[in-house]
Amino acid sequence: MEKQILDEFKSKLETEKLEITAELKKIAEQSGEDPAKWETIFTRDQKEIGSEAAETREDEAEAFGAQLAIAKKLAQKLADINIALEKIVAGTYGKCENCDQEMPLARLQALPEARICFDCDPKK
Ligand SMILES: [Zn+2]
Repeated sequence: MEKQILDEFKSKLETEKLEITAELKKIAEQSGEDPAKWETIFTRDQKEIGSEAAETREDEAEAFGAQLAIAKKLAQKLADINIALEKIVAGTYGKCENCDQEMPLARLQALPEARICFDCDPKK
């Protein structure tokens, strides 16, 4: 891959990394043991409503579940972005982890943190 294109992906990934980290910090805390892991935080204010009606507690549980799902998704994306950035440094960026083929630029432009090509993607 040309250095100029690679640099573009690098800055795109770095911007995304900052944005996702900021998003995650609102709803989760970086684990002390493993910085790649994020633990969801539920604000103290919401916890203190503990004596409210059961219905409220159900709503809280639902909100917590949704928050957890978002945090998990963001943490996964962040992990993929970090892997992509490591690959840029290692010089292996853009190769499918499954079939070892160079991924088309369009795939990387749509999903710069892609680890496998479109053909290998089970979610396609
Ligand atoms: Zn592939």
